[in-house]
Amino acid sequence: MADSDEPEKKRSRVVEQTEKMVVDGGYGGTCEWQGRWNHVKKLLERAGPFTHPDFEPSTESLQFLLETCKILVIGAGGLGCELLKGLAFSGFCNIHVVDMDIIDVSNLNRQFLFRTKDVGRPKADVAADFINSRIPGCRVVPHFKKIQDLDEIFYKQFHIIVCGLDSVVARRWMNGMLLSLLVYKDGVLDPGSIIPLIDGGTEGFKGNARVILPGMSACIDCTLELYPPQINFPMCTIASMPRLPEHCIEYVRVLLWPKVRPFGDSVVLDGDDPEHIQWVHQRSLERAAEFNITGVTYRLTQGVVKRIIPAVASTNAVIAAACATEVFKIASSAFIPLNNYMVFNDVDGLYTYTFEAERKENCSACSQVPLDLFFSSSSKLQKVLDYLIESASLQMKSPAITTTIDGKNKTLYLQSVASIEQRTRPNLSKTLKELGLTEGQELAVADITTPQTMLFRLCFTS
Ligand SMILES: [Zn+2]
Repeated sequence: MADSDEPEKKRSRVVEQTEKMVVDGGYGGTCEWQGRWNHVKKLLERAGPFTHPDFEPSTESLQFLLETCKILVIGAGGLGCELLKGLAFSGFCNIHVVDMDIIDVSNLNRQFLFRTKDVGRPKADVAADFINSRIPGCRVVPHFKKIQDLDEIFYKQFHIIVCGLDSVVARRWMNGMLLSLLVYKDGVLDPGSIIPLIDGGTEGFKGNARVILPGMSACIDCTLELYPPQINFPMCTIASMPRLPEHCIEYVRVLLWPKVRPFGDSVVLDGDDPEHIQWVHQRSLERAAEFNITGVTYRLTQGVVKRIIPAVASTNAVIAAACATEVFKIASSAFIPLNNYMVFNDVDGLYTYTFEAERKENCSACSQVPLDLFFSSSSKLQKVLDYLIESASLQMKSPAITTTIDGKNKTLYLQSVASIEQRTRPNLSKTLKELGLTEGQELAVADITTPQTMLFRLCFTS
């Protein structure tokens, strides 16, 4: 009857092995099991052809990732979900995530930490709950907030910050925050004050990942010219020389709709109203026929009117993986980080290219020197304001300009508070001379693109 013992033994062996795989409970809260981090150890506990020249294999790097290293993920959307998953699986156990959005049903196809039942709840909270319950030992702390609502004391606590944002303004603000944390001693940057910023971005089938060492390598604002202004076509093209189906749709949206007002005087074009889109679609077809342009469809019409760039899950996955890898490389010091900008494109086949974005000597964000503004003393303040908004290297949104005249602070123009806007609006049509501004005058400009006030020096050209 010895044979009858066999199944029993087998069963107990299976139970034993299964118990080893139980992820929480039964292991005194350490949540570790045999071989759990083998995939990470292979990278940290032996040298290889791609390891950093100064790399010395050790078990300490892994302990640092698991216990000490503190990562901040900005954004819990398409990139954010991928980032949290990638970081948690790479051994990072101390992660905070900031996101101000709530979950919409349209997010569910790619933001895989969310389910139908979560619609309407904050992305940060749900993403953190999901990771924390799925990956034992990982502690994700959610912040259902705007990045602007957290202060420097908060940001200072992190070793590395990784951004998965869809807004250039938010990126620039984060960049400005990290630059403001830099400490200079006798003009020399204290490396201890640098918090590396890993930034990922995607737009349809295109994406980029970059590594920024604030104060050392090119910052977001150094390469601002790389961000095209929102898809806006030149008015002359729209009005008289359309070449693309989009130009025809823009013509109807920008010029024809306000002229014809097809649904009544006070009705603004609503991208979610099928009747509106239908009207724009028909008129765009007529316009396109006039210029022998093909390709105007209902879908494209809605896309252009609503400024939709479809989110592509695979692009997000690739870019987030690249960013998580860079976090791992920097945190472990085991590999040389990306230097410093990788572009990715999978529109047609697969293409990547890496280059070193260079620091801009007179970058308004990281150069530490007040920028010169060249204007004639007879220029109106409006012209200065337009320049701050339209200049490709500044691209401000709603700049507030103040200065000091005869030792007194004077607000020249401020848009964000209605009463002050009203009071300072007349200044816009005054000349710089009439406002009492002189050669070399310092102008302090505040804008939502940065937490810091920027200093400019006025230089008169005549
Ligand atoms: Zn810069």
